[in-house]
Amino acid sequence: MIQKPKGTYDVYGDYSKKIKYFEKLINSLMEKYNYEYIRTPLFESSDLFHRGVGETSDIVTKETYDFKDKGDRNLTLRPEGTAGVVRSFIENKMYSNSLLNKFWYYGPMYRYERPQKGRYREFYQFGVEAFGSSDPMMDAEVISIPVNLFKLLGLKEITVHINTLGDIESRNNYREALKKHFKPYLSELCDDCNNRFLKNPLRILDCKVDCDHSCIKSAPKISEYLNEESKNHFENVKKYLDSMGINYVVDESIVRGLDYYTHTVFEVEAKVEGFGSQNVLCGGGRYNDLVKTLDGPEIPGVGFALGLERLFTALEYENIDISEKINLDVFIIPICEEAKTKAVKYLNVLRMNGFNVDMDFLGRNLKNNLKTLEKINPKFVMIIGEEEINSGVLTLKNNETHEEYKVENENLIYFLDSNIEGE
Ligand code: AMP
Repeated sequence: MIQKPKGTYDVYGDYSKKIKYFEKLINSLMEKYNYEYIRTPLFESSDLFHRGVGETSDIVTKETYDFKDKGDRNLTLRPEGTAGVVRSFIENKMYSNSLLNKFWYYGPMYRYERPQKGRYREFYQFGVEAFGSSDPMMDAEVISIPVNLFKLLGLKEITVHINTLGDIESRNNYREALKKHFKPYLSELCDDCNNRFLKNPLRILDCKVDCDHSCIKSAPKISEYLNEESKNHFENVKKYLDSMGINYVVDESIVRGLDYYTHTVFEVEAKVEGFGSQNVLCGGGRYNDLVKTLDGPEIPGVGFALGLERLFTALEYENIDISEKINLDVFIIPICEEAKTKAVKYLNVLRMNGFNVDMDFLGRNLKNNLKTLEKINPKFVMIIGEEEINSGVLTLKNNETHEEYKVENENLIYFLDSNIEGE
């Protein structure tokens, strides 16, 4: 039997309900935040990721799915969402409206990683990119999105970690200081770190192989190399987060895996024991030079990406089952041939009135239908038999409390409206 590729998974059952609820939630949240939905291709020119995400990040050097198409073009399955959104922003000249452009995306990403719990080769990310404002208020707004999303989902055990990498000047000074610091240890560091030393020494701080080496712990801190402007920016981000009531910790170890960040970087961690470094639910930051690097105008940006699979694990860990939020309102059971005509009528009318409704299509008797109700889990069961047809009074049963209601035909919508909580 042919099996699914390594590092991928199928979505069905409760997981599918969880996803449906999550998608509804991000749709409505992003509407509230006034962000526009953007969708870019699953594959892009390989160059986009190599230039955009950076030549020293593991994601690009080791983990991309690269291939040639029949026209001999070098293409790559997107390993992350930002580069594609920036490419689209530039290519479609979206900046020409001189407004703030705020986008959100949601979809699969591909990385050739060693599959393990919380790490897949095909995984889903929800993310945002806000272009046009270099105001620290924008950084705070972007950080508030995952924080509010986690709050809406009911997660309690999360921590926001923030740091700054400063502007280009501060980063360059820091780079030099790191080079000076790491030079004597190069022979003790891995090959990748030796490469990073030449191209982007900041990334040595992020190395999974050398993370326990004493020279990493004793490395200079970015905070010692920030110029006034960078310090101000960071202080203001913190001020606005305070004002929004968002708790955070400043964590100088965060440098983020991608090369394009400037100023604010952040990660949101969930407390999931035994999950190691994979308890990072989302990460992001400001990238003031990425649009220009990809041949666009000088426009600042800030964004984040959140991994769906890890979020779901964190929810499980806190015993939050969002699959329960996707429910049928009514399940109709016709118990005689004649009742089928009425059942399909109500099925249609109720659906068009905004209720989630299904019925028995298997022609099962009442007993067998009732047996499966626990699985189907509707809020109300509507049983239609001869009595209901003759009297014009319907029988509805609350599936949780088992309370029975007699409802006149013409009052059905009113009854359901008043007894089913709207969203
Ligand atoms: P990154 O784009 O590496 O900053 O990752 C952002 C978020 O995507 C992480 O915090 C994870 O939640 C998620 N993520 C990254 N890589 C994977 C993966 N291989 N499998 C599942 N989730 C991932």
